Amino acid sequence: MREITYEDIVEKVASMCQEASYSLGEDVLNAFHAAVKTEASDNGKHVLNQLIENAEIAETEHVPMCQDTGTAVFIADIGQECHITGGSLTDAINEGVKKGYGEGYLRNSIVRDPLDRKNTGDNTPAIVHIDFVEGNQLKLHMTAKGGGAENMSDLKMLKPSDGLQGIKDYILDIVKVAGPNACPPLVVGVGIGGNFERCAFLAKKSLFRPIGERHQDAEIAALENELAEEINRLGIGPQGMGGTTTALDVKVEVEACHIAALPVAVNLNCHASRHKEVTL
Ligand code: SF4
Repeated sequence: MREITYEDIVEKVASMCQEASYSLGEDVLNAFHAAVKTEASDNGKHVLNQLIENAEIAETEHVPMCQDTGTAVFIADIGQECHITGGSLTDAINEGVKKGYGEGYLRNSIVRDPLDRKNTGDNTPAIVHIDFVEGNQLKLHMTAKGGGAENMSDLKMLKPSDGLQGIKDYILDIVKVAGPNACPPLVVGVGIGGNFERCAFLAKKSLFRPIGERHQDAEIAALENELAEEINRLGIGPQGMGGTTTALDVKVEVEACHIAALPVAVNLNCHASRHKEVTL
């Protein structure tokens, strides 16, 4: 049994939180540069160039790329042959978030209760999804998820008879309703199947896949391409200023579901599509 210390997790999580805030992944930057070349609208091009400049300033000066430094969301793949010493995985992640957001002077965006709205003051608790896998490593996937895009996300229990066309129509409707409010250009995460809560998780999980990486199933990959094309024909454009780059990418994850159900979830991510990964 391999041992991983609580302190090691705290340090790694703190670094991930800070890096996510100022260092946009290469996949997102490449998508911005590619979009500038294909964007049909001058306003759209202008916004994309501003986003590139913003990302460069954030990287150079180590300042957050957006005032909304997000909810810290983790997917932890923990190997069955590793053991965490000195405390629980969830506590270590939360302590790392507190340290990372505190030492990085990142905005604290979490309230302790949705009704009394009192800020917890350290951006905890994080949202932590834990999966047990084979092996002796701990893989942490982290995203700093912006509130604006999360607010425009949606889930619907479609009927099986709605079929593929019903799924596509629903996804396009959600992006249309979001308009500029989800801070496009977007990464559109889609979950199809599972049950009510699993479907929402699938949509979230899909956002951790790098931009440009297609689903391994050819049919799902074709659906991702088709949805991206249709979304980019909506005309919303970068920051809602009009144009042909409403989505940088569309990600779809699919799982088994009940014979009477067709759950579909759309989790929108904004242009500050911040995700980091570390293996301990
Ligand atoms: S949704 Fe994204 S881009 Fe918009 S304010 Fe929040 S983090 Fe920033």
